[in-house]
Amino acid sequence: HVDRQKFVYDFTEGNRDLKDLLGGKGANLAEMTNLGLPVPPGFTITTEACKEYLASGEEPAALRDEVGGHLEALEQKMGKKLGQADDPLLVSVRSGAKFSMPGMMDTVLNIGLSDKSVQGLAKQAGDDRFAWDSYRRLIQMFGKTVLGVDGELFEDALEKAKDAKKVTVDTDLEAADLKKLVTKFKKIVKTEAGRDFPQDPREQMDLAVKAVFESWNGERAKLYRRQERIPGDLGTAVNVCSMVFGNLGPDSGTGVAFTRDPASGHQGVYGDYLQNAQGEDVVAGIRNTVPLAELEQIDKKSYDQLMQIMETLETHYKDLCDIEFTIERGQLWMLQTRVGKRTAAAAFRIATQLVDQGLIDETEALQRVNGAQLAQLMFPRFDEDTKVEKLARGIAASPGAAVGKAVFDSYTAIKWSRSGEKVILVRRETNPDDLDGMIAAEGILTSRGGKTSHAAVVARGMGKTCVCGAEELEVDTKRRRLTVNGTVIEEGDVISIDGSTGKVYAGEVPVVPSPVVEYFEGRMHAGADEADELVAAVHRIMSFADGKRRLRVRANADNAEDALRARRFGAQGIGLCRTEHMFLGERREMVEKLILADTENEREDALKQLLPLQKRDFVELFEAMDGLPVTVRLLDPPLHEFLPDITELSVRVALAESRKDANENDLRLLQAVHRLHEQNPMLGLRGVRLGLVIPGLFTMQVRAIAEAAAARKNAKGDPRAEIMIPLVGTVQELEIVRDEAEQVIAEVQEQTGVELKLALGTMIELPRAALTAGQIAEAAEFFSFGTNDLTQTVWGFSRDDVEASFFTAYLEKGIFGVSPFETIDKDGVGSLVRNAVQAGRATRPDLKLGVCGEHGGDPESVHFFHEVGLDYVSCSPFRIPVARLEAGRAAA
Ligand code: ADP
Ligand code: MG
Ligand code: MG
Repeated sequence: HVDRQKFVYDFTEGNRDLKDLLGGKGANLAEMTNLGLPVPPGFTITTEACKEYLASGEEPAALRDEVGGHLEALEQKMGKKLGQADDPLLVSVRSGAKFSMPGMMDTVLNIGLSDKSVQGLAKQAGDDRFAWDSYRRLIQMFGKTVLGVDGELFEDALEKAKDAKKVTVDTDLEAADLKKLVTKFKKIVKTEAGRDFPQDPREQMDLAVKAVFESWNGERAKLYRRQERIPGDLGTAVNVCSMVFGNLGPDSGTGVAFTRDPASGHQGVYGDYLQNAQGEDVVAGIRNTVPLAELEQIDKKSYDQLMQIMETLETHYKDLCDIEFTIERGQLWMLQTRVGKRTAAAAFRIATQLVDQGLIDETEALQRVNGAQLAQLMFPRFDEDTKVEKLARGIAASPGAAVGKAVFDSYTAIKWSRSGEKVILVRRETNPDDLDGMIAAEGILTSRGGKTSHAAVVARGMGKTCVCGAEELEVDTKRRRLTVNGTVIEEGDVISIDGSTGKVYAGEVPVVPSPVVEYFEGRMHAGADEADELVAAVHRIMSFADGKRRLRVRANADNAEDALRARRFGAQGIGLCRTEHMFLGERREMVEKLILADTENEREDALKQLLPLQKRDFVELFEAMDGLPVTVRLLDPPLHEFLPDITELSVRVALAESRKDANENDLRLLQAVHRLHEQNPMLGLRGVRLGLVIPGLFTMQVRAIAEAAAARKNAKGDPRAEIMIPLVGTVQELEIVRDEAEQVIAEVQEQTGVELKLALGTMIELPRAALTAGQIAEAAEFFSFGTNDLTQTVWGFSRDDVEASFFTAYLEKGIFGVSPFETIDKDGVGSLVRNAVQAGRATRPDLKLGVCGEHGGDPESVHFFHEVGLDYVSCSPFRIPVARLEAGRAAA
């Protein structure tokens, strides 16, 4: 039970389950306190107080008194008062929301120091230098984060003071120097903020608390929340924590540590320690830290205690934790802990290690990893032992390892890639005009823009490697070169980019295949070295997932090769075989003939030629997937896709006519192209509509499937073909096609003497189909949700156009956090799916239900499909392991 009127919790009152109320930092400080660990006493002001403050613009009336009460209790416990002149209690004011968030206010340390109490602190500690160092830090942090003074002004003054003394590190400044610096800092505050640095300790604390509240609505924090889909109304908590001092001399210090290696997962001592320093020095990199292991020599007692505490934390949280600690004159204090971030490889290893240690079970292990991490492990990567020097580092925007010649415009990218060169497209930033160049390139590198820039969004959508925002690079597109720290890369020079780390290299870095893919391909087995250890962990997690999942996983595959690979990756059938790919190449001519046919005979001839070829394709496919279902989709795309380009052909015919040697066939072709030309081909003559207006087309395909199935049965095989009709909008369309198909199947049975059981079903990819699913189910034995087209038609987005044109803007404005083509839009498209599932099953309880859009391999979407009760998801072969894992996680 949470008391909404209670705004302040002592560290002894909270626990880790109260993250909503106390934020992550506060909840874990409370948890550690209650575990009996040495946490400096303090209290947490709740997110509720923050919300009230933000709503009304002033602190809730009760808050001031409540804080006062907790402060008094704290003062009593510590035996001194906040800012007391002769012996001051000092505190830190630390922000801490439920999720850690860039853009939120930083921490202010040493609150309570003033011109008077600094003297008292010096006397108590017997150390002038320490006291003045703490005071200058307070004015610096308070000035910057609470009063909004430009932090560089303080940095510059500090640098000047060091230069004047000819020293390089701040510890070499003496009390007198620091005292002067304090005077300087106070002047900076006065000029920049237009007010004196507050001398009243309670005022310092209250202002800092308010500043934390207000930072919740800072621009950067708001943008981050929108992008990460963190609700805007959570608010942040504020932690007030009594200070302990790592800057009291060589027997003091501060450090960070992990309970195990966040890169490999191995148990051991991982962390950094800095002697004679306060917390923020470690991250700021002001002086060199030493590896945590050296603390054993420096202070054995604290070291042993720390090891003990880390073990306690791991056992308690049952996971890798990271911690912040400070040692004050030989006394160890814990200042923060949380479940730590880790690499993808470490996530898999740690999960299985914890199972082996008996700390977690299989179900929990599945929650410790995710499909995005698995996908990351499946990308090829650069050889880690590379001798090639790093050129720059940008933002890891879209994973993968790409090597190619640098080109600086799309035109060159296309031209060079057509002649077989591998290229990396380098731009300052990309725009929709670069799309073709991006498609042609192995990878994309930009010097501007973040994770939601055009380059990043489009590259991720295409699954193409991308590093963006590498700001050190000076990209000169006019002179076709880039410069970085004196190195010049000209057009044609080879560069390598790593979309998983953001690193950019000059020259070719060797690429090694992912051991995880080698494993799925069956080329590698669990063994002893580093990579093998990872593979063993992946193997175990996958078997946990397969054991738990209800959803089956099929592949989108059009040929035997893809089908076999999909099987190795664990596919349980094919959910989508696109037959249009079987109409390309040399067969395009036959399709042309079919389209141009004037008479029934001509048309039948063309179909007769296509039939045996189609049949052969299907025989191979059914053999590769023997014993497993194969859903074949009848021809879907508009016919003009099989004809020459209208402009090219018009030019050719016009030229020929001017020479008076136009050929008859070209003229007919041009007529046909004109006849079939559509303004909106995606909404035009395609899918089932083709089957209804081109006589014989669908029946030829059905015959090829049926004959192939019969042939496989005769060869003692186990073909399980399913025939799928695309783009159905109404049950009448399906009924007509269905009647024809059944007749053909009966004929084939008669001719071959083989009994065939071919399921007939439909795609649900138009809103009308979803809305009338109950009727459509009368004529369909299965539904496969075509969520790509369904997303296009529900949103009215043309996928080929919008991703490159305005999606960047939409993402930046936070209209969505992720493209609806990447993750299913649950509220819109998803609700149609949900309703269609219910209506379909109401008509036909044994209706089989699947999805074959891109979403079938997207982690979040897989969870949704599990939840609405589909039977399977189908995705590209490479995504199958991800889908298996996520299906397992969804069910666990
Ligand atoms: P962040 O979320 O940025 O880590 P923290 O609130 O943890 O911010 O504080 C920043 C640094 O100050 C950390 O190194 C932390 O350990 C240190 N710190 C915070 N509170 C205290 C305190 N009461 N005494 C000593 N050091 C502190
Ligand atoms: Mg911290
Ligand atoms: Mg479709």
